[in-house]
Amino acid sequence: MPAPSKRLYTKRFDRADLLARVGAGANRAWTALAGWVPVGHDTPELGSGDARPGRVYLVGAGPGSADLLTLRAARLLNQADAIVYDRLVGDAILAMIPAGRERYYVGKARGHHSVPQAEIGALLVKLAGEGKSVVRLKGGDPGVFGRMGEELAALAEGAIPAEIVPGITAASGAAAAMGMALTDRAHAQQLRFVTAQLCREGGAPDWASLARTDETLVFYMGLAKVAAICHGLRGAGLPDDWSIMLISNASLPDQQSLTGTLGNMPKKLAENSLPSPCLIVVGSVVGMAEVTRWQEEVAEEA
Ligand code: SAH
Repeated sequence: MPAPSKRLYTKRFDRADLLARVGAGANRAWTALAGWVPVGHDTPELGSGDARPGRVYLVGAGPGSADLLTLRAARLLNQADAIVYDRLVGDAILAMIPAGRERYYVGKARGHHSVPQAEIGALLVKLAGEGKSVVRLKGGDPGVFGRMGEELAALAEGAIPAEIVPGITAASGAAAAMGMALTDRAHAQQLRFVTAQLCREGGAPDWASLARTDETLVFYMGLAKVAAICHGLRGAGLPDDWSIMLISNASLPDQQSLTGTLGNMPKKLAENSLPSPCLIVVGSVVGMAEVTRWQEEVAEEA
């Protein structure tokens, strides 16, 4: 008997045939179907990643290492007329942009505020309005704490077509680099991405809902909030010896990490400062990183 479930992924769709059969709604249908056609098949222009004039591509650059970019992101970077990028996009990735293309840096300069979101939206609308193909390059995945919603709204308001190209979010990059499975079934049945910006004055995460022993928590933007996170989770009932790990510059040559417990991490961090960007992982999956490191050491000795 043939394996029935594989068919959807391997079937080649013929655009002319589809147009003839579905008529007016075909373009939308084709866009949806194109997403199912795997790379390497004769993909049509929709969804194939070719940069088109007057269009903005919101592209994820991954956690930093250039070879963690998707093929689609690399192709668009190579083709786009203009690239608008952030602080978290690494030099190795910027080096992939061909000479002579327009580049706009809209991240935060040291001691300065970042370019206001409204100005970034206006710049994207302007560039695409001039008929350029535009890549809006963001660290990690553009839809994970990336303010992509505001940019999509600005583009919709300016009647500029937009496409999203996902990227490897910092949590995936850091977990892979440290040898952890974020949802290892022995450790976690849930996984939550949390912005530590909630710890700002006046706001606080819902510690009671976050303090679970069957879950992995990943805090983004939390380096300055480590003490508040440890305090909040302990106050809500997680044990003092519950594991926490900080990973800076995940996937990059200067990657660094610090492992500890909710009880001792604030002191450890005070004694060994870590640079930005830094991700915080809380949960018993952190123990897997220890095992992986031990395996690596054994392999190196052999
Ligand atoms: N869109 C990005 C997140 C942007 S918010 C993504 O999907 O990864 C910025 C935060 O991401 C940083 O404060 C840090 O917590 C995290 N981050 C991004 N790149 C990182 C890296 N290489 N190593 C560790 N943390 C990283």
